Amino acid sequence: MNRAYNFNAGPAALPLEVLQQAQEQFVEYQGAGMSIMEMSHRSALYEQVNNESQALMRELFGIPDNYHVLFLQGGASQQFAMIPMNLLRPGQAGAYVKTGAWADKALKEAKFIGETVIAASSENDKYMRMPSVNDFIVPDNAAYLHMTSNETIGGVQFQEFPTNLGNVPLVADMSSDILSRPIDINKFGLIYAGAQKNLGPSGVTVVIVRDDLVQDSPKDIPAIFRYDTHAKNSSLYNTPPSFSVYMVNLVLKWIKSNGGVAAMEQLNRDKTKLIYDAIDQSNGFYIGCAHPDSRSLMNITFRIQSEELEKQFVKESEQNGFVGLKGHRDVGGLRASTYNAVPHESCKALAEFMADFQRRNG
Ligand code: PMP
Repeated sequence: MNRAYNFNAGPAALPLEVLQQAQEQFVEYQGAGMSIMEMSHRSALYEQVNNESQALMRELFGIPDNYHVLFLQGGASQQFAMIPMNLLRPGQAGAYVKTGAWADKALKEAKFIGETVIAASSENDKYMRMPSVNDFIVPDNAAYLHMTSNETIGGVQFQEFPTNLGNVPLVADMSSDILSRPIDINKFGLIYAGAQKNLGPSGVTVVIVRDDLVQDSPKDIPAIFRYDTHAKNSSLYNTPPSFSVYMVNLVLKWIKSNGGVAAMEQLNRDKTKLIYDAIDQSNGFYIGCAHPDSRSLMNITFRIQSEELEKQFVKESEQNGFVGLKGHRDVGGLRASTYNAVPHESCKALAEFMADFQRRNG
């Protein structure tokens, strides 16, 4: 077996143990005479996968009883639209914190639905530093405040969340850092994340939403786009992406058996330190993109003085078994995505490769 050092931004590395367990159960799931993909989503076996996955999300992330855990489709991008469809009313404004490409996409979708306002922006910092949560300006008529907890392309991550929003629900896109660190869920009205970075394969999107926001769902939008539809039906309103939910189930069990979310954070801190140190100790050969106080534990963005050398770096990294180190096409440069399932060993190998590349080209 030859597994790459996988630093893909998403879909991204999954734990080897999870893949092997899925392989074992692939053809026949628990004596059912068929795979999980071939059985009814109304069967007892699938219902158990669905319920257990919700319960594991609650347990691992500390989600209180007054929140629903939903498994939906359409990706985080569909949530960009569903959030204003469900929460934004005439006379109100959706407040957005503009922190980069993903926050901007969320904002653009909301504009189709109603009024929006920018509560803070890091555009003047070229999106390389998260704005201070103390500087957010949230108008009285805000329906919610939307933040992107980790900007996957920029490699910047909020280190804290606002606590002074009063009755304005806090909504967070945690697509690229869910379950990477403990979070106080009570601060949030709604959290959402596409699965394909920290939770499993693509195809399922997790939404954690407080019950009062669900009760308030408008009745004049199609049922499929309403949170109350999915909450009432325990995410089985229509055919779910059953294989993806099953894979999320295995990933959640893997997180649990590896010590839970606090242990994930420690692992992520230790392994990203290896790469940030390689940048910081390079005497300017590597240039970290994110401001140090906003550095992400999930996406490490950096540059080399010349684009020629960056190309060379990507080429040689690929020859050495590394995958996914080219920066996003919109910003260029280099990026290492270090989600929960990326092993410490891959990060150590990358730090060593970086030092060696510098020795040869510095
Ligand atoms: N938000 C963030 C922070 C992301 O990183 C991504 C995908 N890279 C998205 C939203 C969009 O997710 P999806 O492709 O699941 O719609």
